[in-house]
Amino acid sequence: MAIAACLNAPTRLKKLMTEFRYELLATDGKARLGRIHTAHGVIDTPAFMPVGTAATVKGMLPENVADTGAQILLGNTYHLMLRPGAERIARLGGLHKFMNWDKPILTDSGGYQVMSLSKLRKITEDGVTFKSHIDGRKFALSPERSMEIQHLLGSTITMAFDECTPFPATEQQAADSMRMSMRWAKRSKDAFVNREGYALYGIQQGSVFENLRRESSEKLTELDLPGHSVGGLAVGEGQQIMFDTLDFCVDMLPANKPRYLMGVGKPSDLVGAVMRGIDQFDCVLPTRSGRNAQGFTHRGTLNLKNGRHRDDDRPLDDQCNCPACTKYSRAYLHHLIKAGEILGAVLLTWHNLAYYQDLMADMREAIAEGRMDAFARDFHAAQEGGDIDPMPIIED
Ligand SMILES: [Zn+2]
Repeated sequence: MAIAACLNAPTRLKKLMTEFRYELLATDGKARLGRIHTAHGVIDTPAFMPVGTAATVKGMLPENVADTGAQILLGNTYHLMLRPGAERIARLGGLHKFMNWDKPILTDSGGYQVMSLSKLRKITEDGVTFKSHIDGRKFALSPERSMEIQHLLGSTITMAFDECTPFPATEQQAADSMRMSMRWAKRSKDAFVNREGYALYGIQQGSVFENLRRESSEKLTELDLPGHSVGGLAVGEGQQIMFDTLDFCVDMLPANKPRYLMGVGKPSDLVGAVMRGIDQFDCVLPTRSGRNAQGFTHRGTLNLKNGRHRDDDRPLDDQCNCPACTKYSRAYLHHLIKAGEILGAVLLTWHNLAYYQDLMADMREAIAEGRMDAFARDFHAAQEGGDIDPMPIIED
């Protein structure tokens, strides 16, 4: 017995170190502080996942993305299957090696972008056929093929193949769409090749209808998947409807597993969703806005194209420690953008990613200390207070 116990202890420890699991560390209201353990390392939650669409977070070296505090990236199945192809990435050692990122990667199922980007798509019970938006080549995607692609990529977290129900949808449309997604979730589970430390998440659908969200959650809970996401929000319904839906739909998902809100969002969306129990987010906003001269700051969102910054030698955000804020002025960022210099987009992307990661870290600290309500009040007050007064413009 003693020998068996000795042998078992390290085996148990090794298993704990490698198995995919969610650890709930503290709660404050509905907000949760936690940790997700994966084969590629730990993710502190609530977490924001920068989007690396085509095996790159646009304009950023992966080590610099990690410097901002990111512990996980998102990759897009749709983009990667079209170019350079999942089989090619697998031959080249998988997505982690291909893009030089050794921390966790979550890939979406491809479904959402097939609906939003591809041409001549046809949806049947089997899956979707479509033509590439790049060169018109014909492709097919099904739960089985989506699982195969995400496996070839080597995703740490694979998403079930689903249909993102458009908004608005009638209750009947939302029900039909959700029920097909639940049948696809079962097929996704059957096709998913499980590996230690990897996970498949199921996606709750049901639009804004409480009964449909509940039905979806019950079907997903039966599948006993290691994590869940809330799908079908941030599709044009607006923040209030999104929050109203989150108020009931998050609690329906098992509390001992991570909950991921897909495609969200603005800083105020993140704060509101964390307070409703969400643990993971992804959004193109910080990177896309960075390429469009927008900077997110503690005092709201700024447009660096604006002439008010022309003679401003102060940092973009004096509370931020990123290179854009500690080494360069608003005047320099404004100049780079006006001159169409690549570095302008790089620095603003860097700053926005750092701002998002700082926001998540601040929320984690606030939950740990039981002051999430006060944090949210201060956050909104600072955002609504607006930017610092402009510096006088010198005409010459
Ligand atoms: Zn900064």
